[in-house]
Amino acid sequence: MTRPIIIAGNWKHNPQRIPGESLFREISEGTISRLSADGGDSPVRVVLFPPLPWLGWFVSNASQFDRSAVEIGVQEVSDRPLGAFTGEVGAQLAQQFGAEWALVGHSERRSIFGETDPQAASRVKAAATAGLRPILCIGETLEQREAGETFEVVSRQLETGLSKLDEEFEYALAYEPVWAIGTGRTATTQQVEEVHRHLREVLRRARGASADEVPILYGGSVKPDNAQALLGIDGVDGALVGGASLLSASFLGILDAGIATA
Ligand code: PEP
Repeated sequence: MTRPIIIAGNWKHNPQRIPGESLFREISEGTISRLSADGGDSPVRVVLFPPLPWLGWFVSNASQFDRSAVEIGVQEVSDRPLGAFTGEVGAQLAQQFGAEWALVGHSERRSIFGETDPQAASRVKAAATAGLRPILCIGETLEQREAGETFEVVSRQLETGLSKLDEEFEYALAYEPVWAIGTGRTATTQQVEEVHRHLREVLRRARGASADEVPILYGGSVKPDNAQALLGIDGVDGALVGGASLLSASFLGILDAGIATA
């Protein structure tokens, strides 16, 4: 089973507008030149998750970009339908304004905004039903790792997070140990490999044969200098990149590592 390699950039609540436009242009041009070098047959896909106002910008500037090179996602979707829900942005609207992917359950949403596994399940379902590909983010805290609870925590997050999702929808997982996000501290290749192997087994038990089609990304302080080692691990199907996606050179360096290991 060949899964795509997904190199995804999570811009979080960054950058400001003017540098953001340049960043997008540089990443877009760099991606096009790299992915078109092999005649467009690359198994590597590039997805950016900018803050929500950028969606409108991408749509109004769509003619300037090759949208097939860089796909766009939202960092969060509401599971509410259209209606009297002030402040919410649902999956349906995000999809209509050009989003193709949605992050769900990022650790910052869980730890800062109190999101739970059952909420993640509803958001995964809402995203997929509206035609977005959800990426369910899971990962243990340092305390949980030190208490030997890593496998138990990620299994629960995976099983609950996917519990409302029907078989036919396309989705991905991102294993992001919370202690490695934005800290400069990266999980060792052995830690990443064993959790990814465990997740694949849990996924097979929960979802049957279709589990093998699901990309499982790693996230947590991925940088150009560690990307090749991380992306070369058996069972790692891409990277979810935070800080390093805010500099085109470092994001494209990670993309180069993804292409080299594909
Ligand atoms: C993230 O935001 O998902 C992330 C992995 O951030 P960083 O690469 O900065 O650790």
